[in-house]
Amino acid sequence: MPQLESFWSNHIDGEWIPGGAAPIDVTDPATGAVLCRQAMADAADVNRAVAAARRVHDSGALKDMRPVERARLVQGMGRFIEENAGDIARTLTLEQGKPLWESRIEVSGAARFFEYYGNQADTLEGRSIPLGAGYLDFTDYEPYGVTAHIVPWNFPFEMTARSMAPALATGNTCIVKTPELTPLSNAWLARAAEAVGLPPGAVNVICGHGPEAGAALAGHPDVNLVVFTGSVPTGVAIARAAANNVVPSILELGGKSAAIVHDDADLDAFETDMRYGIFFNAGQICSAMSRVIVHQSRHDELVERAAKLANSLSVGPGIDRGTDGPTMGAMVSLAQRDRALAMVSSAGADGAKVVAGGRSLNIPGAFLEPTVVTGVSPASEIAQQEVFGPVLTVLPFRTDAEAIEIANGTQYGLVGGVFTADLDRATRAARAIRGGQIFVNEWFAGGVETPFGGVGKSGYGREKGREALFNYVQTKNIAIRMR
Ligand code: NAD
Repeated sequence: MPQLESFWSNHIDGEWIPGGAAPIDVTDPATGAVLCRQAMADAADVNRAVAAARRVHDSGALKDMRPVERARLVQGMGRFIEENAGDIARTLTLEQGKPLWESRIEVSGAARFFEYYGNQADTLEGRSIPLGAGYLDFTDYEPYGVTAHIVPWNFPFEMTARSMAPALATGNTCIVKTPELTPLSNAWLARAAEAVGLPPGAVNVICGHGPEAGAALAGHPDVNLVVFTGSVPTGVAIARAAANNVVPSILELGGKSAAIVHDDADLDAFETDMRYGIFFNAGQICSAMSRVIVHQSRHDELVERAAKLANSLSVGPGIDRGTDGPTMGAMVSLAQRDRALAMVSSAGADGAKVVAGGRSLNIPGAFLEPTVVTGVSPASEIAQQEVFGPVLTVLPFRTDAEAIEIANGTQYGLVGGVFTADLDRATRAARAIRGGQIFVNEWFAGGVETPFGGVGKSGYGREKGREALFNYVQTKNIAIRMR
């Protein structure tokens, strides 16, 4: 078992310090063993972090820096992450439960955010607006100032990198509130900021309880932008808290995303989409392919393939006897696993057929078998609510219109997919599916470069891509009368 430090501090104003709230135990969800203790911040610590970020912002140390210099700092953080990828990935696997090979993917995804946004730090150009002789008018982009980043436990490292990289690239300062279940890997982002020589206080990383430190941060009058990834109820509370200060928020919330599989789809290829779409990270993905809506003529064949796939995956501890881990790891906690199990068993009680999985493993740790459910109505709980576990629900359709109606029939609208050899049909469906990003013939196609975000209860604002840069700046117009 790799050694972790026994106590993890908060990082405020360049110092590693214990918090004002009682420390918590961080446990390994694959074994239930306590890994270490984590310092917890209280509202006074949040005040300190905000004051430090404000001081750095107002000093101009970041916002007035030549953008190419800022670009180098942000790119340097990405390189630091790559250089320490092995240690970060091990930390992530231990705290979160995903296999080591998945953690490596998450860590290099995080590094890529710093590379991508670092490369764009010197590309934000305003425009001049003709107002006639005697005037010069131009627009500038200014950073918001102090940005708060409140992150979830499913991809704790990459989600923070996703918003921190564009925030820093555009000259903002940051306070990260890490999730209570998985606070450790984020400390590496504070280390990266230190390693490249960002001014102390430019990046602060604290853990604390959501209703205490998280709420204090979201509602702090000196925070200028709140970026949140997490559940709908928390998102609503955070948006309210920010709105009280007339501060904008970006909300990346949950999803119940659907893949529509037409009768002409390539089901061999689609097996890979199911493999990663619903069983990567044990299904704890906001943009998981949690529903497959398949033409009735291919329903039985697809269910059989999904069940075979689910039964073929090996499930176990993410760090396993020196290997890169099994094909699927633990869920983040026993509570999360039991919540998913309860949803599967109540679907069973409602007449669903559980054609694969549906049980926990007979070993310690938060393990749930890869699960496939069918025979439910599109209105049933399991087809409407986010399970946030390795549970695929398969629903049949008869007409294209019915497929779209089922796909759009939830409160969410994060991503969606359509699988067909017919490009016209794919394009029509892609336009009709409610969501911020639609995949055609490959679930999770795209990358850091492609904008992502929700409609409906999945949130608002876009992360990733060039679009996200504009989350972190405000347009300023300067109108000059020349006399
Ligand atoms: P959560 O909402 O419980 O917690 C997220 C963060 O908010 C944590 O850091 C938590 O401490 C904090 N928090 C809790 N209460 C708070 C409050 N009152 N004020 C301020 N902060 C508070 O979510 P979770 O359980 O960690 O994550 C799972 C959810 O996140 C799922 O619904 C999933 O779909 C969603 N998610 C969305 C995306 C996306 O990009 N759309 C990505 C990952 C996860």
